[in-house]
This record gives sequence, structure tokens and C-alpha cells, in this order.
Amino acid sequence: MATPKPEPTAVLDAAYALEARELYRFFRAGEEETLALRGVSLRVRPGEVVAVVGPSGSGKSTLLACLAGLEEPDGGTVLVAGERISHRPESERARLRARRIGVLLQSGNLLPHLDVTANIRLASFAAGTERRAGAGDLLAGVGLDGRSHALAHQLAGGELARAGLAVAVANDPDILLADEPTGELDGASEQLVLDLLRARAAAGGAVLVVTHSAQVVKIADRVLALHDGRIR
Ligand code: ADP
Repeated sequence: MATPKPEPTAVLDAAYALEARELYRFFRAGEEETLALRGVSLRVRPGEVVAVVGPSGSGKSTLLACLAGLEEPDGGTVLVAGERISHRPESERARLRARRIGVLLQSGNLLPHLDVTANIRLASFAAGTERRAGAGDLLAGVGLDGRSHALAHQLAGGELARAGLAVAVANDPDILLADEPTGELDGASEQLVLDLLRARAAAGGAVLVVTHSAQVVKIADRVLALHDGRIR
């Protein structure tokens, strides 16, 4: 009997923290059809910071939502650390997202009625994993050790961004996806967040940032330009 062949592609895929293959996403409203993504492929390796830039309406938010498993692409595949997240039931996508993906949104990713520490604990609980670093260590890592019991509305803009980052990396995700993480910050706060993103990559994490900021582009290892749903 023939022995089963090894699966070389599965081994290769795992070399990427994130891989998107030929993503398509359509929106239809009445007669009107918008092609938000038209065959977007990208790869992010561990240790890399990749910036995605593009004008408003080019598909950045749609791409990020598909990469995070928050939306299903109409075509194509998303793999996180070699594991497919697209075209699975929502419950499985949510489980994979909690365990393998950190999401950092400009609007903030802290639940308003929980303090910073409780937000970090909740993220770990959702992943069903033991925290690899305690909430205290995570907060110290982003320079917020004195603010562990603050609520979101008690934090200044730069503090809020750093607290959001601590929550996003609470489970040591394979890939950190960030949407304009420095959009509303002053120069000094922006630099602090960028230093933290670079530090994450230096420690072997992978980061993909959607941004308009020239400062973010400067710290990226690679820049992907999205235009009309395609990478140019
Ligand atoms: P960006 O983030 O670069 O501004 P988006 O991903 O938000 O771009 O949008 C890409 C295109 O898809 C735009 O033409 C937008 O109008 C359209 N689009 C995005 N989301 C929806 C939706 N839920 N319904 C209909 N059209 C949408």
C-alpha cells in the first residue's frame, strides 16, 4: 500500500503568521455592486511589521475585517499560523481569533465598565488559555503599571492606546492587526505606541497595521498599497 504523501504546503504555510490568498469581497445594494476586495494576497512573517496604506474607500477596513475573521471573504482564504480561519462557522472563527489574533482598533478595544486589568483578564478568558504573562507584567510592558484599575474614560489618549495594546497582546497572538492605532495621538504618544509595535516584532511577533500615518510607514518593514481593492 502506498504511504500517504507528506503535505509540504501545510509546513510552508506555518512559516507565515498571516497569509491571505486571493481575497474577494463584494457588497450589493440594490442594483449597485461594490467590489471592495479584488484578489488581495499578502503574507506576514513572524518578526515583521507590515503597513497597509491606501486612500479612503480602497478596501482597508474590509481587508482587516476579513483577516481578523470578523467578516467572511466571498472568495479566497485566510490562514493564521497555517490554520485556516476563513469559511468556518462564526463560533470557530471567534475561538481562533481569541487565541491567535490580537485586534487593536482606533476606537479602542476596552470594555468601558471594566478596568484595564479586568479587560486583560477577559481577553485571556475568551481565549481559554492561561495568561502567558500576568496583567501586571503586560501593563508594565506598556508603561501603565500605575493605571491597572483605571476605566477607559479615565485614561488619556496615549494611555488608552497602550492599554488597548496590552489587551490585544494578552494572549501573545501570532498576529497583531491594528487599525489606525495612532490616528488620534500626539507625536510623543504615537512614538511610544510605535516603539511598542517594533518591540513586539523584535520579540518574534507579527504586526499588520492599517494606517495613514507617515510615522507608522517609517517603522514598517514593508508597505502594501491598496487601491480599488487591489494591492499595487
Ligand atoms: P477603506 O477602509 O479603505 O476606507 P472600506 O473597506 O471601508 O475602505 O470600503 C471599500 C469599499 O467597499 C467602499 O467603496 C465602501 O463604500 C464599500 N463598502 C464597505 N463596507 C460596505 C458595506 N457594508 N456595504 C456596502 N458597501 C460597503
